[in-house]
Amino acid sequence: MLASINDQSKSNGNLLHARVIKLFSLVGASITGGMCLLSLLGNNNTLTLILLVACTTYLIALFSLKKFNIKVSAIIIIYSLYLLMFYLVFSGGVAQTGPLWIFIVAPVSVYVLGFRLGLINLAIFLCIVCIIMFLPQHLVAHEAYTPEFKLRLILSFLTMTFLSALYEYSSMQFYRNVLELSAKYQQLAMSDPLTKLANRRNASAVLQQEKARIDRNHEPLSVLLCDLDHFKSVNDKYGHNAGDMVLMELAKVFTDNVRQQDCIARWGGEEFLVILPQTSAEQAGIIAEKIRLSVQNHTIHFLKHQIQVTISIGISQLTEDETIDELINNADKCLYQAKTLGRNRVHP
Ligand code: GH3
Ligand code: MG
Ligand code: MG
Repeated sequence: MLASINDQSKSNGNLLHARVIKLFSLVGASITGGMCLLSLLGNNNTLTLILLVACTTYLIALFSLKKFNIKVSAIIIIYSLYLLMFYLVFSGGVAQTGPLWIFIVAPVSVYVLGFRLGLINLAIFLCIVCIIMFLPQHLVAHEAYTPEFKLRLILSFLTMTFLSALYEYSSMQFYRNVLELSAKYQQLAMSDPLTKLANRRNASAVLQQEKARIDRNHEPLSVLLCDLDHFKSVNDKYGHNAGDMVLMELAKVFTDNVRQQDCIARWGGEEFLVILPQTSAEQAGIIAEKIRLSVQNHTIHFLKHQIQVTISIGISQLTEDETIDELINNADKCLYQAKTLGRNRVHP
């Protein structure tokens, strides 16, 4: 249950990520598309062609987000942006303004690729930009920048990278804290503070989930409703703290006697509900007897006292057309029978 809530939070995070990537693709396509038109008017054929390719790539990224997955789109956006920037640095763009665009690479990289991978990619990106700028002209003819311009471009890019990484890191930490807090509060809302078992609300949710599953696969499901015998006299004799201790100890006894897939809940004051998926009433009877015996043989030590308690158990198996309320009512009737027949027993 808690895992599914966490998964839900993560999938909400992915959804937000997908929306921002979609926005990046749209903005990228619009800017490169607009600049493509401007450069067409300015008769710069190579730049027009490159911007047209970039614009198409962003549109493909946008399309692949709907068709495939977020990672493919992210890779298309990032690396096509890098290629465009390399070209702008190499050619100088319009009147040496091309390198100005490289600043957008820093925030986009850390956001799209994440903190670590983003920084690695930015380091490689900056190395390639430096290689292009410092490439000897006699080897490959490219736009020539003054040493002051190159130095300031690198320093300001590093500053931008640092600020973007810092922002991404703090929002990552913030997101983690929110996830942890939400998991903690969900845990508090779904568990019983004394025994740490699932509470009644949690058990009801589990039962509804199991019912939906059973409606599909028609597997058996049984429940055990367990109630402590003469618990009031334990409180009266040893005090309320001793009674609390008994409840905590019994929670452990229950847990030790059921399987991983079973759910144990504190259903009421001194009532426990055990939900047994894929279990018939007959198999549930064996488990109930095992639990009953373990409780009977368990001694609870409280101060100088040694307390022994017993439990009565009612069993009910969910039938096809039965509701959860009817299932619990049947278990309650069986529990009542177990009590009237003398307690410390399983019924039926
Ligand atoms: P029976 O065999 O018929 O079930 O008898 P009983 O005494 O167990 O039943 P009854 O319903 O009369 O009393 C239940 C008692 O459980 C009364 C209440 O004080 C005690 N109880 C319920 N919740 C807690 C709890 O959280 N801590 C403690 N210490 N006692 C609790
Ligand atoms: Mg009771
Ligand atoms: Mg009782």
